[in-house]
Amino acid sequence: MPSSFDAIIIGAGLSGLVAACELADAGRNVLILDQESGQNIGGQAFWSFGGLFFINSPEQRRMGIKDSYDLAYRDWMGTAAFDRKEDYWPRKWAEAYLAFAAGEKRSWLHERKIRFFPVVGWAERGGYAATGHGNSVPRFHITWGTGPGLISPFVHRVYEAVKKNLITLKFRHKVSDLIIENGIVCGVHGEVLEDDKKLRGLKSSRIKTGEFNFYAQAIIVTSGGIGANKELVRRNWPERLGKAPENMLCGVPDYVDGSMMEICQKAGARMINPDRMWHYTEGIKNYDPIWSNHGIRILPGPSSLWFDAFGNRLPAPFFPGFDTLGTLKYIMQTGYDYSWFILNQKIISKEFALSGSEQNPDLTNKSWRLILGRAFGKSATAPVEKFKKQGEDFIVKNNPDDLIAAMNTLTGNNLIDSKSLINEIKARDMETIHSFSKDRQISAIHAARKYRGDRWIRTAKPHPILDRGDGPLIAVRLHILTRKTLGGIETNLYGQQLDKDGNP
Ligand SMILES: Cc1cc2nc3c(=O)[nH]c(=O)nc-3n(C[C@H](O)[C@H](O)[C@H](O)COP(=O)(O)OP(=O)(O)OC[C@H]3O[C@@H](n4cnc5c(N)ncnc54)[C@H](O)[C@@H]3O)c2cc1C
Repeated sequence: MPSSFDAIIIGAGLSGLVAACELADAGRNVLILDQESGQNIGGQAFWSFGGLFFINSPEQRRMGIKDSYDLAYRDWMGTAAFDRKEDYWPRKWAEAYLAFAAGEKRSWLHERKIRFFPVVGWAERGGYAATGHGNSVPRFHITWGTGPGLISPFVHRVYEAVKKNLITLKFRHKVSDLIIENGIVCGVHGEVLEDDKKLRGLKSSRIKTGEFNFYAQAIIVTSGGIGANKELVRRNWPERLGKAPENMLCGVPDYVDGSMMEICQKAGARMINPDRMWHYTEGIKNYDPIWSNHGIRILPGPSSLWFDAFGNRLPAPFFPGFDTLGTLKYIMQTGYDYSWFILNQKIISKEFALSGSEQNPDLTNKSWRLILGRAFGKSATAPVEKFKKQGEDFIVKNNPDDLIAAMNTLTGNNLIDSKSLINEIKARDMETIHSFSKDRQISAIHAARKYRGDRWIRTAKPHPILDRGDGPLIAVRLHILTRKTLGGIETNLYGQQLDKDGNP
């Protein structure tokens, strides 16, 4: 079959848009197909916080953070803990990505007019030995304008290339097969779906109105992960994390359905590490859902007290924002798939952020006035305060007895013993009255506050949680929330799919 395009890109998320821009810049003729409508261009990245990983950036240096490729390399290896034969290419990708993040990544984005919030955040703080999991230093750079700010230059460039006939965009085109001729993938087959004008992020119709075949010299698959496909998440759930949770919230839109995985496998691509996923443990049910079973992740500062379903405090280092997968494993071992934060107004005001562009109007709309409110206000951000009032997982009370009674009522299982939980909080509170502590969470908070960024906008000064002046008390029931897919189609550093013998 003659090729009508130099390349076909399956998926108009950020990855697909970036690939299309690069190809169009090189004068190539590109077709982008996506099962969703044009309202969804940019995919998940639109909804994201736009948190980016850079190493030794100007933002880090201005905040007094000394970072280096070597430090980041050790952190990455300690976190990924590559230990399988299949990790050959993932390790190579990690090394290439680290070099990119320490090298041209920031300037490449900067040239494309993307800017960054000056205070660098600290994700996955670790808490083990220096060779273990986590980031030794803050590296989470928030895009100015969050997800929409990140996709905007690429969306713009794609539409410019459409005008020049270099890119053809076809929405509502769902690929269902890769066409193979003489052992080479040379095209795609699929279904045209009925027009659907629903707003961005809403689940769209799957009614078929036609079929298509397109051919090209190169087929690029940028179809995202499996996070909205509960069936696939469960089927691939890692043994090391125990049983898959009975209840999970969904942290990604419905179109993150993993459909291309099986299609690529059928065409001979090798799927590796499907059990490697990244799900969060601080999910709350969205009171105003956009996609199915919509959950929001709390991006917590380090001070909330974390309890399991029985009201037992999670052991070190399972503090908020320290080790997501370690905490997930611990929670699943309790036999329940939820846990609790207990905190007060002072902590929620300073430390709660919600992941998602729509949950951060200050950063998304680039409003310094709202950002200053976040830093210095007595209330949390407006979206957090709304969740506090309307979210079914939030309980707000003036005294600990009422709080715990309401926690037991919410779950209906009476698992928490009020007396022992209050004792635990009182003991922890006594550790905050001086600068010494045997409580590792308090020590970690003192250490975090040595960093200006944490002190300014992320970490409240250690104080007694039960102190009425800093109240009211707040409990938040936390669910497991699906998000990232780490395994997938094995490729070499040219992005070529490899077969079972490792050949492109
Ligand atoms: C709320 C939220 C917050 C996040 N925050 C961050 C963050 O701060 N930092 C960070 O690094 N990451 C974050 N992420 C993750 C990040 O946004 C995603 O990993 C990234 O955007 C994925 O981009 P993608 O182009 O690979 O996939 P997607 O955005 O999922 O795009 C894939 C596209 O392929 C299409 N598609 C799939 N199958 C087919 C098919 N068979 N036929 C045709 N089309 C198909 C889909 O419709 C979709 O449009 C966040 C994600 C969410 C949802």
